[in-house]
Amino acid sequence: MVPDAERLAEHAGLSSERLHQELRAHLNDLSAYEQRVLAAAIDIANGGVNVSADAPDVADELISLARVVGALHPPQARHTTRTELSTRVHRTLSAKTLHTMRELGLYRDPDGVEPVWPHAGMLILNPILGCNFGCVYCFRADEQRESVDWFLSGRPTKVLEEDVLVDRLARHPLFVPGTTQLGLHTATTDPFLPQVRDSTFRILEILERRGWTNDVMIITKCYLRDQDIDRLASFTSFRILLFLTHNAAPEGMEKMGAGPEYLARKQRTVARLARWPHLAAAHYYRPIVPGWNDSEDQIIEALTFGEALGASVIGGLKEIPNLAELGRRRGLSLPLLSSEREEKYFPRELVERILGIHGRLGLTSVIVGDQSCGLTVMLSRLNRSAVPNVEGLKAYDLATGREPRCMGCCSPEQLSACAAPPVPTEDTVRSLLERAGIKADFDIKADRLVVRSEERLTERDTEFLAAHLRYAVFWQQRKGDSMRAEREVL
Ligand code: SF4
Repeated sequence: MVPDAERLAEHAGLSSERLHQELRAHLNDLSAYEQRVLAAAIDIANGGVNVSADAPDVADELISLARVVGALHPPQARHTTRTELSTRVHRTLSAKTLHTMRELGLYRDPDGVEPVWPHAGMLILNPILGCNFGCVYCFRADEQRESVDWFLSGRPTKVLEEDVLVDRLARHPLFVPGTTQLGLHTATTDPFLPQVRDSTFRILEILERRGWTNDVMIITKCYLRDQDIDRLASFTSFRILLFLTHNAAPEGMEKMGAGPEYLARKQRTVARLARWPHLAAAHYYRPIVPGWNDSEDQIIEALTFGEALGASVIGGLKEIPNLAELGRRRGLSLPLLSSEREEKYFPRELVERILGIHGRLGLTSVIVGDQSCGLTVMLSRLNRSAVPNVEGLKAYDLATGREPRCMGCCSPEQLSACAAPPVPTEDTVRSLLERAGIKADFDIKADRLVVRSEERLTERDTEFLAAHLRYAVFWQQRKGDSMRAEREVL
């Protein structure tokens, strides 16, 4: 029996009757088990659809999906009843159904994450959905959504083959071979979960074959096995910039990574990395949540871990709506968060405390407060000379007079490089605007690029320009003779 699919039909520009007819027409070609998978896929699609688009092939797509998932997870008596699918099959199906819907234009990820995802001026490659690291604060977790149960405790599920993904990257308008920084598996899973590791290496192998020299950022909460590190060290086309996370989180906060054994494995990872100086690595010390992992002992543990890597990127938590309740269910005390909901909560007092402990212990690692700074410090080390911040962070500080995001703890050479990034040439700016399809004129000033257009520059385009120029980028509205100046500040 075909379940209700009225919402799906309406969003796909079909009558409910026609969609039902098309689904029913193929039912007899499917086994009883595949029919159950199809029924579940229709339920997921009907509940998840959130965008309207002409999608006349939606029935065919769901039927092929039922066959694929049926073949991937053959029926097993102990896993299935006559009507229900196992949780494992259901989660795989959820991830693949939502991806299929996204490809048809019928589903938009609530966080805007895509398989080739422009973020902070980089392009992040995400062929997998689902993570089982078990972070209570995860803004992608099932608990944060209704009817989308593909993430927390979920089975990382491949939704796109890696070669297809890299083909898409090659065609992406914001991809500049040799320049655009790439990231792997961010905001959809962790690149070194056992189920994801092969995909991570497969992407790297394809990038290596293409011969692109774009830097590749990898952030992981997992430890790396010796053979993983040696394999990472074998790539020669591009540089790998590795962030290893350790935030001394208790088990209630991060299920998989807590405990001394896991920490010992991460320390072994750090020791092994020292064999390969061309593999850049830094410590990702995030999130730090007052009340959960900000005790003196926890800060000492995390900073000591970071000391061996030479740089720690500190940061707070992007709060999720029901965090306190989720924490309570896992036996955590109430997190001390801001009464006003902020993007990320990281009080000055906590920063001072961390810096105080760092100084008292006599540690020499550099403390920075932004991912772009961590990347910059790694690149400067690899280059053996300071390069400007990869997102023009300090250049923005100076151009706007805003509360500085540069923490000022870097070496004098690094501070100078970030304060005075090279002025871009007209040709470079013009070619980037053209590549991104931005119709605008511009002024290159000593401390900023001013882009003038009728349409406001999107955040994505502003970040693209800033990251590729390593220069502060502002927008002004162009309107006939009268120029209404508006500034867009990252
Ligand atoms: S000098 Fe400032 S902006 Fe540059 S990398 Fe260091 S912390 Fe970041």
